[in-house]
Amino acid sequence: MSVIQKPDPVPAPSANGPVPFLDLKAQQARIGPEMRRRIDTVLAHCQFVMGPEVAELEAELARRAGAAHCIAVSSGTDALLIAMMAEDIGPGDAVFLPAFTYTATAEVPLLLRATPVFVDIDPRTFQMDLADLERRIAAVRQAGKLRPRAVVGVDLFGQPADWDGLAKIAETHGLLTIDDCAQAFGASLHGNPLGSQADCTAISFFPSKSLGGYGDGGALFTQSDERAALYRSLRTHGEGKQRYDVQRIGINGRLDTLQAAVVLAKLTVFDAELARREAIARTYDQRLGNLLTVPARVADSTSAWAVYSVLLPDSATRTAVQEACKAEGVSTAVYYPKPLHHQPAYAEHHEGGALPVSEDIATRIMALPIHPDLTDAQLDHVCNTITRALAQAISA
Ligand SMILES: *Cc1c(COP(=O)(O)O)cnc(C)c1O
Repeated sequence: MSVIQKPDPVPAPSANGPVPFLDLKAQQARIGPEMRRRIDTVLAHCQFVMGPEVAELEAELARRAGAAHCIAVSSGTDALLIAMMAEDIGPGDAVFLPAFTYTATAEVPLLLRATPVFVDIDPRTFQMDLADLERRIAAVRQAGKLRPRAVVGVDLFGQPADWDGLAKIAETHGLLTIDDCAQAFGASLHGNPLGSQADCTAISFFPSKSLGGYGDGGALFTQSDERAALYRSLRTHGEGKQRYDVQRIGINGRLDTLQAAVVLAKLTVFDAELARREAIARTYDQRLGNLLTVPARVADSTSAWAVYSVLLPDSATRTAVQEACKAEGVSTAVYYPKPLHHQPAYAEHHEGGALPVSEDIATRIMALPIHPDLTDAQLDHVCNTITRALAQAISA
C-alpha cells in the first residue's frame, strides 16, 4: 500500500448535493405541523366534498387577490373550462391565446369546439405580443369565418401579461378577457395583485405552481356576481338553487376539501416563499446576467416566479449547458420545447402561418431551479455550474 496519498481522480461529489428542480420534502419540514393539523381536522369532520375548508380557502384567496368572488375548482384546466362554458364559447368562436404556453390554454377552447388563434410572444418578457394580437384579430375579421370572442392572457412563468394593453384591445373588439394565471398567483401589476385585471382569472394548485397543493386543484376569480353564480353552478353539474334542479350542462369541477386544507396550510408560508423566489431571481440576474439572457421584467410588476427561464444563444449551447448541469446534479427544465401550433394535436387547427418568436425561443430557452427551499449553497452551485458550462461551450 502506498503511503503517498494520490489525488482522487474522480471529483468529490459536490458538497451541495443534487439540486432538485422542486423540493416539496424540504417544504414539508417547514409546514409539517400546520399541514397535519389541517388534514386531521378534515379527517375528523369527514366532509370530504365541499367541506368548510373550501369556503375558508375561497374567502382567503379572494381577499389576497382583491377579487369580489373566488370559486375553488378541481384544476386550473377546469377553471378555464368553466370560464369558457359560462360564456357559451363554442363552434365558430375565435379564442386568441399565446402560442408559447402550457397545452391547457389551447386545449380548453378546442374541447368546446371553438378555434384557438395562436399569437406570438415578446422575445424579452415571453408575454403575448399585442401588436401580433391586433394583426391576428384583424385577419380573423377579414377572413369572416370566425367570430372573435375572447382573448386569454397568460401570465407566463409568473410575470403579468400586459393587462393594460389587453384590456384596451378587448374593449375595442368586444372580446371577453380571461386571465390564465395558473403560473402567477401572488404576482402583482401596478401594486395590485393579479385576480381582477380580466373578466375572469383562473389559477392552478398543481404542485409545481407558485401556490401548489398535494394534487390537482384550481380556482376562479371574478368581480361579477352573475359570473360567480354561473361558475358555482357549472362546477356542480349545472345545479340551480336546489340540489336536484339541473339548470344547464355543467361538470364535476369541485375542489376536494383535503386539497383546500393543504392549500390553506401552504398559505401560512406563501408570502415568505414569494420573497425567497424573488431573492433567488435577483441572484441569478446578478450572477448570470452578462453571460446569457435573463428574463426581462414586465414594467411596474412583481412576479410569482413559478419559473425562471433564461435564453441561451442556440440549441446546441442549451444542450451542452443542460448536460453539464446534469453531471453536477443541477436539475434544469425546458418550458416549452415546442410552441403549441407545432403540436400534432393542434397543428391542424392553425391557419395563421409562422410565429417566429415562439418558434425561435422554444429552441434555446432553459429554466433554472427557483423553489423557495433552494439554499444559498445550492444557488451558488447552480451559478458556478452554468458559468463553467458556458465558458466551456464558448471555447469548444
Ligand atoms: C398549469 C397550467 C394550466 C393548467 O392547470 P392544471 O391545474 O394543471 O390543470 C393552465 N395554464 C397554464 C399556463 C399552466 O401553466
